Amino acid sequence: MLGILARVHTPTDARGRTKTLSELTTAELQNWLADQKQPKFRAAQIQEWLWTHFATSYDQMTNLPKDLRALLASQMKLGALDQVDQQVSSDGTAKWAFQDADGKRFETVMIPEEDRRTACVSSQVGCAMGCTFCRTAQMGFQRNLSHGEILQQVAHVRRYLRDTQQPQLTNIVFMGMGEPLNNLSNVLQACEVITHPKGLGMSPRRITISTSGLIAGIDRLAEEAPQYHLAISLNSSNDEMRNKVMPVNRRHPIHDLLLAGDSWSIAANWPITYEYVLIGDVTCTSQAARELAGLLGGRHCKINLIPLNAADDIALRAPTQEEILDFESRLVDAGLQVYLRKPKGQDILAACGQLAQKAN
Ligand code: SF4
Repeated sequence: MLGILARVHTPTDARGRTKTLSELTTAELQNWLADQKQPKFRAAQIQEWLWTHFATSYDQMTNLPKDLRALLASQMKLGALDQVDQQVSSDGTAKWAFQDADGKRFETVMIPEEDRRTACVSSQVGCAMGCTFCRTAQMGFQRNLSHGEILQQVAHVRRYLRDTQQPQLTNIVFMGMGEPLNNLSNVLQACEVITHPKGLGMSPRRITISTSGLIAGIDRLAEEAPQYHLAISLNSSNDEMRNKVMPVNRRHPIHDLLLAGDSWSIAANWPITYEYVLIGDVTCTSQAARELAGLLGGRHCKINLIPLNAADDIALRAPTQEEILDFESRLVDAGLQVYLRKPKGQDILAACGQLAQKAN
């Protein structure tokens, strides 16, 4: 009878499309269920199927009445991602490509490291920021991902870890395709579900949001959501160099960016992370190390050094091991907290800056 009585108001997204179940907020789901004269607790049951059991079809939601499942199926898609490719690296890193109804593709990576399992999640299809060392930049900006699509990437990784009997997901980094602060509302909405005890139940300190340096977004995070880690891709030791590597620097020069980072770390009471890609002859020189130590010395921060992952279509040189170690030791000698990131998943182009999908 449910289907006959139903007065269905299925919410739509910014593009005017019917939202998928994964894209509904709790309030939207409760309202939709209320329209169907369904008890409120069904919302929690449905969300548990989505985010605890990673259901991919309504048939799996066995504690829902059959007619409710049928109505759901007739009104909205569940929103599980359409996987079009999976590659697993010799070091265990896994990378998936997903395709939306319009043929647009985006990627997610899982990086294993001893007991840690990190999901590297995309926030956009492509990216508008134009960083010269990054393959995603070459796609240009195509669209924002919805919070449901972001969540489904995390669900996909957790399902994979469960099915391959690996340790559980421990960390999430918004370092896949896109500039997360250009899609911050959807990122924060996804993080709310990720950290909610009835969602994925992860600690906010296990989530890192990374930015190329958008100051308004950093300020918004400091004010609205300082519970998540923040990483800024600095990648240069002076404005002249950063203008070339990251065009965003022409709008937000290093001095302003570091002040925004300082304010964030005071609000969050946590050290900010500066990511620094080491590019041979460009950012990885002894002079750059001296300048970087001067910029970051005395700041409440840590530094992740990321040796460039060379790709055929990027005309930049990866630094030698000797250059990398020399750069690192200069920062350590200056008293900075430095971590040298080990490249992962290079053989499947899953490493930092290597994500890219050709538009269909
Ligand atoms: S590094 Fe990040 S912000 Fe820069 S172009 Fe690539 S995806 Fe965009």
